[in-house]
Amino acid sequence: MEDVLNKVFQKIESLKDEMVEMQKKMIALPAISPVSGGKGELRKARYLEPILREIFDEVTFYNAPHPEAEEGIRPNIVAKMRGKNSSKTIWFMAHLDVVPEGDRKLWNTDPFTGVVKDGKIYGRGAEDNQQAIASSIAAAKALKELGIRPSYDVGLLLVADEETGNNYGINYLLSKYNGVSNGDLVIVPDSGDPNGEKIEVAEKSILWLKVTTKGVQSHGAFPNQGKNAHKAAAYLITAIDGLYNKFTERDEIFDYPRHSFEPTKKEANVPNVNTIPGEDVTYFDCRLLPSLKRENFLEEFKRCASEIEKRFGVQITIETVQSVASSKTEPDAPVVKAVQRAVKRVLGRDAHPYGTGGGTVAAVFRNKGIPAAVYSKMDEVPHTPNEYCVIDNMVSDAKVWAHIMLEG
Ligand SMILES: [Zn+2]
Repeated sequence: MEDVLNKVFQKIESLKDEMVEMQKKMIALPAISPVSGGKGELRKARYLEPILREIFDEVTFYNAPHPEAEEGIRPNIVAKMRGKNSSKTIWFMAHLDVVPEGDRKLWNTDPFTGVVKDGKIYGRGAEDNQQAIASSIAAAKALKELGIRPSYDVGLLLVADEETGNNYGINYLLSKYNGVSNGDLVIVPDSGDPNGEKIEVAEKSILWLKVTTKGVQSHGAFPNQGKNAHKAAAYLITAIDGLYNKFTERDEIFDYPRHSFEPTKKEANVPNVNTIPGEDVTYFDCRLLPSLKRENFLEEFKRCASEIEKRFGVQITIETVQSVASSKTEPDAPVVKAVQRAVKRVLGRDAHPYGTGGGTVAAVFRNKGIPAAVYSKMDEVPHTPNEYCVIDNMVSDAKVWAHIMLEG
């Protein structure tokens, strides 16, 4: 087996330039969700399609209809390669979509032109999540070119809409495709650390809330004639902040070992300074440790809102924008062990299971009883200006995937 591994690793090294090229092509095809002002993932999926067809035995598109996306489609791709034994499938799942570039002034290079410098590729999506796309394709390609069948079936799930709720992505795909089962291994290379020593096995539950406060608009000089929705919402934000003193639990498996409930996005209200706003829309990003039920937290949130309603005479509506329950993959599950063995062989390091607050799609699998491990060797610069991928990390990830493909 050592001989085979060495050959495969050498092959992967030789595919380095190809991976970089693939990254550049993908960076130039910004797959931004329509919700964030883009057209979706279709062009990127079409670019990848012939590459996948060359390597995999079956490539199937599951297109979620979405009128605002290019051609009304949000593409999801399942690519499968038959292994020596088809009793289970080793899945690698990556997302096609990227977030917008943000403030362009903060970028040193064009966010949608891949620029190679000092062993890194700069560009939006380079690390999140194209490192995963390029490295998993390269691992499969190395096996294909060497004529080596993986131990078990190998599958790639390339999905849309990970950054804005998964409804046109993995949730849609799993509603149409039932080929992922409990005995499979699911690896999600969407988070990691620079040393490649961490395997994420648990996530916090996510609850995104849209809070609309309705008051009465009036002239800025006559607050007595209106009900300031903005001010009431500000008091609600403060009240919710007070919940940090109520929900004080800690779970040290998580990087940030507490629940969090943070006000984030704020919709614009009145355009002028001298009008008291009659409506306010504020969003909250709540991340709960697995032990706190979303319903129980929401009840407390509603209690705070109704106190604000009484105090300011406003009406508050709370809508759930996203709600994802999380559950744990056991730290000694076969998928975790497989990643640990591969990391030991490729990097000579021990990788440890941990929990995170960032929602990756692994939760979607875990909640269906399918064990999933999140692993990658990365600097963790997603969504930042000057996002980059360390080329050596992409190569080392590809070797880790190949090891798992070969040894299960
Ligand atoms: Zn990601």
